[in-house]
Amino acid sequence: MRTWSSVPLPRVPGTPRPLRLFDTSTGQLRPTAPGQTARMYVCGITPYDATHLGHAATYLAFDLVNRVWRDNGHDVFYVQNVTDVDEPLLERAERDQDDWIVLGLRETALFREDMEALRVLSPREFVGAVESIPEIVEVIGKLLADGAAYRADDPEFPDIYFDHNATGRFGYESNYDEPTMTRFFAERGGDPDRAGKRHPLDALLWRCARPGEPSWDSELGAGRPGWHIECSAIAVNRLGMGFDVQGGGSDLIFPHHEYSAAHAEAVAGTHPFARHYVHAGMIGLDGQKMSKSRGNLVFVSRLRADGVDSGAIRLALFAGHYRTDRAWTAALLSEAQERLARWREAVSLPTGPAAADTVARLRDHVADDLDTPTALAAIDAWAGEALRRNGTDTAAPGLVRIAVDALLGIEL
Ligand code: ZN
Repeated sequence: MRTWSSVPLPRVPGTPRPLRLFDTSTGQLRPTAPGQTARMYVCGITPYDATHLGHAATYLAFDLVNRVWRDNGHDVFYVQNVTDVDEPLLERAERDQDDWIVLGLRETALFREDMEALRVLSPREFVGAVESIPEIVEVIGKLLADGAAYRADDPEFPDIYFDHNATGRFGYESNYDEPTMTRFFAERGGDPDRAGKRHPLDALLWRCARPGEPSWDSELGAGRPGWHIECSAIAVNRLGMGFDVQGGGSDLIFPHHEYSAAHAEAVAGTHPFARHYVHAGMIGLDGQKMSKSRGNLVFVSRLRADGVDSGAIRLALFAGHYRTDRAWTAALLSEAQERLARWREAVSLPTGPAAADTVARLRDHVADDLDTPTALAAIDAWAGEALRRNGTDTAAPGLVRIAVDALLGIEL
């Protein structure tokens, strides 16, 4: 799939800081240790509706990961998928009497526009599920051959399922106990009660063709892939095993990331799928999680149409830590707009206080598990001094402008 375009990333003078991130699987803050090329996979959208602020918060968090690595001189091989065939997309198309292909193309195009407007650095590969079906089929074939997958005991629809215990490590990513897994599996698209499975927690790999549903011919028979194997195949075929960061929202901890890892590890016979599993918190509105099922979404495209600056959206979301669940409010946005105006005024002055220490603090905080609230406070402090006309450094406003652009993605 075509990706979107990135604005150029300026080089920031001074010394970069290596990135450490909280890893869900070990429950620890650990340094990332990429090679010359850092490898990141972030789960993409199912394109049946516009990008809401929950999505934006996730992609902005991983944009900061990308930016810190680049500041440290790494190339970043960033891969993101688009789940352009799946139940939610088909259901929405059916509900709205829309063609699912047209709906998917339209919402994917809008997503690209939103990401570009938010100045999110583009993935090197932006990959659709449909265009990946041959490689997904190949991986499922290997799982079947290795005995890690089986056909459901159902003569009409012998769908293919993954034996969740195939690696002997199932559960290491989420660390959830079995009752929690079972609950989330049922709530988040799993089918624990499907007859013909060997275990309720075995996950769908290949759904045989049903009348009225899209399907593709393959050596597995006509059908379409499950969601977890899609990301598993797309990630490993581009990044290899043991890539640096697998990312997504915290609602992907289980089942999605647990199974993506288990599928890949069962095929490869090695561990781990990713070295860090990193999860962003949920964005709420009026005290509830922002989600399609609740209908309480704030869309990025709506804010853009209202003339809201992308820098203000970034500042509003960065005012809280990426791992915390947090609320979107009108006050949060207006505070972010005021902050953006203050910063812009400060960097437009001819002089300011020397900024090398401020830039060092900005780097320290962003590289420390993306601690944006503290990073923003460091820039606030500099801007406050500059606006009080304390400082005679003529290079300082330009340095702050470059650092905020490169490390926070905000154009001042
Ligand atoms: Zn995924």
